[in-house]
Amino acid sequence: MSHSIAVLGGGTGGTVLANDLAERLAPEIDAGDVEVTLINDDPDHVYKPVWLYVAFGQREPADGRRPLSDLVDDRVDLVIDRVTEIDTDDKALALRDGTGSLAYDHLVVATGSTLAADEVPGLSEGSHDYYSESGALDLRDELLSMTEGHLVLSVVGTPHMCPAAPLEFAFMADDWFRERGLRDDVDVTYTYPINRVHGNPHIGEWAEPIMAERDIDTETFFNAESIDPDAKTITSMEGTELDYDLLAAIPPHRGVDVVDEAGLGDRGWVDVDKHTLEAERADDV
Ligand SMILES: Cc1cc2nc3c(=O)[nH]c(=O)nc-3n(C[C@H](O)[C@H](O)[C@H](O)COP(=O)(O)OP(=O)(O)OC[C@H]3O[C@@H](n4cnc5c(N)ncnc54)[C@H](O)[C@@H]3O)c2cc1C
Repeated sequence: MSHSIAVLGGGTGGTVLANDLAERLAPEIDAGDVEVTLINDDPDHVYKPVWLYVAFGQREPADGRRPLSDLVDDRVDLVIDRVTEIDTDDKALALRDGTGSLAYDHLVVATGSTLAADEVPGLSEGSHDYYSESGALDLRDELLSMTEGHLVLSVVGTPHMCPAAPLEFAFMADDWFRERGLRDDVDVTYTYPINRVHGNPHIGEWAEPIMAERDIDTETFFNAESIDPDAKTITSMEGTELDYDLLAAIPPHRGVDVVDEAGLGDRGWVDVDKHTLEAERADDV
């Protein structure tokens, strides 16, 4: 009887892992002793970092999309479908479109993160993000039409994808307005939740003088509590209020509901042993 490994999620993590397994287990797969299945709800692999460049008009969303079938090893069974339920007792995945369910012996959950702007009052209505395809396109329009005023980049949620992306955005925004001869008319402020501009102290130390040199104002210890989209203000739990004309924000992140519904974790993240990444609440996950 063959042994089946299901990888749920064909983002960067799931795709790399499925290909790695296919390479390492090639003899077993070829002999029919092991099956590796990758399930993703989109036929394309989405390379999320492209959205930073989309916001500044340097790339299109399509530049970050490639068919998963072009990226995945031929030894991997690729299933394009949405998993609606993970049954860790019966070791089966329910599929939205497919008939029946997909059985597994080992399951890898690589469902990534989703944005949860709704967790902060006013954030959805009052800000733009570059952490989603639609957000990056909207933000591009806003940046294109901004000729004066106050741009605030606020890191609202931590932890978030790509620790580098907030600083990258701040420096790219500085360049963007300088190249257009608008920098004297646009103030740029960067807010970060802890008492420095980056989680990593070395990066924070490196970035701070460059930000000062480029006239990027910083507000540290700034944990956004609410946004008033009409007044165009963002207020922190620490009691600081900033006026803005354009607010670019990194929203709080969550995992996916199917993880919570399966009893595997909270807020969509799987509860794991941090040394092995094995699920704490189910076997063989
Ligand atoms: C603007 C930006 C810039 C970044 N820059 C960098 C960088 O420079 N360097 C770097 O290392 N990282 C960067 N990152 C982070 C990087 O993109 C992420 O860490 C990475 O995408 C995470 O991969 P993942 O496979 O865990 O999740 P994802 O890429 O989110 O993939 C999860 C996949 O699972 C699928 N899925 C979820 N639920 C289901 C379900 N129920 N059924 C079927 N499929 C499902 C999703 O559709 C998705 O395809 C950046 C991110 C952003 C947003």
